[in-house]
Amino acid sequence: MQNDILEVLISEEDIREKVGELGTKLSAEYAGRNPLVICVLKGAFIFMADLVKTITVPIELDFMAVSSYGAATKSTGIVKIIKDLDVPVEGRDVLIVEDIIDSGLTLSYLIEMLNNRNAKSTRVVTLFDKPVGRTVDLQADYTGFILPDAFVVGYGLDFAEKYRNLPYVGVLKPEIYTT
Ligand code: 5GP
Ligand code: MG
Ligand code: MG
Repeated sequence: MQNDILEVLISEEDIREKVGELGTKLSAEYAGRNPLVICVLKGAFIFMADLVKTITVPIELDFMAVSSYGAATKSTGIVKIIKDLDVPVEGRDVLIVEDIIDSGLTLSYLIEMLNNRNAKSTRVVTLFDKPVGRTVDLQADYTGFILPDAFVVGYGLDFAEKYRNLPYVGVLKPEIYTT
């Protein structure tokens, strides 16, 4: 698996440090409140697990699975809900936890959905952002790292369901896509 990686972009240590910083900011933002923290599966599962441990206010959490990619490396623009939330969001302070924002299509769809369900507030924390890929006007409220317009894997992010368990984020060797 490690042999398929061309270059490590963000190390395990850098991720840990950044996640801690985000947790500190979110703990301040949500002081005195009880946010509903929503993990967007599957990519955000590791970020979610690490992030919530650094948040010091009481939270509830829920999971949602959406798909917009299949096994390709660019967004299809079609967002499919594979697993919906278990709890109602009406009147809740909702924090969406995303792994990475590229076109922004997935998130804009989710935000609209949560607003339609009358969430009290909707904020987004993403660990990675590729602003160059954006096709809709959308910005996260909290961002870990800005990445170049390359397809990355690791720390929850996959290529055809592989590489999610790498503890760092890296770029695959070109031959992996073409075989
Ligand atoms: P968007 O809808 O913003 O184009 O893409 C959102 C989703 O596509 C992300 O949550 C992630 O699951 C996937 N995605 C976007 N860029 C990458 C990438 O560089 N690597 C991987 N593995 N997934 C990506
Ligand atoms: Mg995602
Ligand atoms: Mg994927």
